[in-house]
Parts: sequence; structure tokens; C-alpha cells
Amino acid sequence: VAKSSGRNTHAFFTPDLAEVARARHALETDLALAIRNEELIVHYQPKVSCLDGRIVGVEALARWHHPKEGNIPPQRFIKIAEEIGLIMEIDRFVLRRALAEIGGLIRAGSNLVLAVNVAATEIEDPLFIKDIVTTVRKADFPPSHLEIEVTESVAMRNPDVVRERISLLRQLGIRFAMDDFGAGYSNLSTMARLPFDAVKLDRTLVAGVAEDREKQTILRLALGLADELGFETVVEGIETAEDLRFAAENGATMAQGYIFSPPVSLEEFTVLLQPTLLASAVEVAPRRHGA
Ligand code: C2E
Ligand code: MG
Ligand code: MG
Ligand code: MG
Repeated sequence: VAKSSGRNTHAFFTPDLAEVARARHALETDLALAIRNEELIVHYQPKVSCLDGRIVGVEALARWHHPKEGNIPPQRFIKIAEEIGLIMEIDRFVLRRALAEIGGLIRAGSNLVLAVNVAATEIEDPLFIKDIVTTVRKADFPPSHLEIEVTESVAMRNPDVVRERISLLRQLGIRFAMDDFGAGYSNLSTMARLPFDAVKLDRTLVAGVAEDREKQTILRLALGLADELGFETVVEGIETAEDLRFAAENGATMAQGYIFSPPVSLEEFTVLLQPTLLASAVEVAPRRHGA
């Protein structure tokens, strides 16, 4: 291999840092604009009861379709939004939109619990409680049908403040779930100390569990511990019937994953609700005959 030297060769093989910075800055500007113009959209993923297979909940997840770059994954734009201080605006937008859209289904008789995501650091913001309460009231949404999924982060500086605020909102009937337990920064003492209603066990703990003895031990213990602490449990990232069976047999309350549905538009989600209603009607009918 010829030894490369000289400016041009160097520029060719090394990523141009100025270019990377420009692209990133353009993305930040576009994201701010997209938020202001309410161009983000909300997709919905069902949560299914492990007891009877019915859709009992739904998680709202932000989506951004960039006019030139196409779909940008939340992992990317949520991270940018956190870094440039726009995450609260995204989360309030998702909350407003989801309260309006799922509120319609609830008023029509559905028993769904709607879940939205927030970062633990958001709860530290003094405006958090007022923001949530005002938004829920304005939407005329029943607070007991709302769940807030909290993702822990190393940046959580005031666990006592977070606990106090969660307790306050729980008194209004709002539910809280610890998100992504078993991944990243989540730890046992936080799980025990914060007043959650449910714990979501992260996909990394769950996916492929049926074929992995070590994962089985860990998931079984995590489910048992959550149960012992009085939490409902949701297993994330269920893609196979085998994983679903293992989780259900070991006490998971609810399951979420591509096996049921990826996050989809409101229209598609509404369609998902229908066969479940039909199936449960069919199930009830023969019992009536037998009674
Ligand atoms: P999360 O809250 O843990 O959401 C679950 C993620 O796992 C979603 O990714 C979902 O599409 C994906 N997922 C669900 N089932 C499966 C499965 O069976 N297999 C696989 N491989 N993946 C599955 P998504 O929508 O890309 O969101 C990623 C993360 O971004 C979320 O993780 C959440 O932490 C964050 N996020 C998304 N929307 C919002 C938002 O509106 N606000 C905030 N603060 N964070 C959000
Ligand atoms: Mg979540
Ligand atoms: Mg999660
Ligand atoms: Mg997760």
C-alpha cells in the first residue's frame, strides 16, 4: 500500500469535522422548527395483558419525518432534543396529541391506559407538575387512564424531589412506570425507592429469553422482585411466542413487542383494537350458553 501523504489524501480519508458539525447544527435547527410547526407525529404501540391477551394499554412514541433526511429515529432526535433543551417541548406535544387522540377512544368506551415517556430529569423541572396537570385538565382526560413512563438517567440529581412529585401526581390518579429497567442506569434501589405502579423490563433482558438460560434466571428474578415490591410488570421487545410464553409463565402482567404490533399510526391502532373486541365477544358467547 502506497504511503499516503499530502493534504488532499488526508482530507479524503478523514471525516470532515466542520461538515459533521454543520450537518448536526442543521438538524438542530430543523428539529426546533419541526417542533414549532407541530410536524412531529405520534405513533402508538399496544400493551397486551398476559392474562387474557387483550390490549389494555398503549404507549405513545414520537416520530419525526425529516423532509430531506427521511425518518429520523427517536434514539437520535430525542438525544439531540435533550442536549439542546427541547425535550420538554417534544414531550408536551406528544402528551397533548396523545391525550386528544386516545381520549377520543376512551370517551367512546375504551378502557385503555395511555402511556407517555419522560426523562427523569424533566421531573426535576419546577414546572413539571403544573404542566402535566394543566395539559390533562385541558384535554378533559381521566387522569387514572394516564401513565407516565420514566426513563432513569445518570443525570438524575434529586431523587427525593422526583419521588415527591411522582407521589403528588399519583394522588390525582396518574400512574407511573419505570421504563427500561435492566438497561443502562436503572438500578435496584431506585426501583425500590420510587413510588411506581409498574416496572417495564427492558428488551435487552427479555428478547431471546426462551433460548438463554442465563437470561431466564435474570428475568425470573426481576419479575419476582418487581412483584414482591408490589409493581405490575411489562416485558418489552417480545418478538416470539416462546419469549411471550416464558414471560407470562413467570408472572409478567403485560407484554409489548413486534409479536403484537410495532408502533403504528392512530388509524392502524384503532383497527388493532377491533379484532380483540370481536375475539372477546366470541369467547364470552359460549360461556353464556354453558351457564
Ligand atoms: P422506549 O420508551 O423503551 O420505547 C420502546 C422502544 O422499543 C420503541 O422504540 C419501540 O418501537 C421499540 N420496540 C417495541 N417493541 C419492540 C420489539 O419487539 N423489538 C424491537 N427491536 N424494538 C421494539 P422507538 O419508538 O424507536 O423509541 C426509542 C426510545 O426513544 C423510547 O424507548 C424512548 O425512550 C424514547 N422516546 C420515544 N418517543 C419519546 C417521547 O415522546 N419522549 C421521550 N422523552 N422519549 C421518547
Ligand atoms: Mg417507554
Ligand atoms: Mg421502554
Ligand atoms: Mg426500552
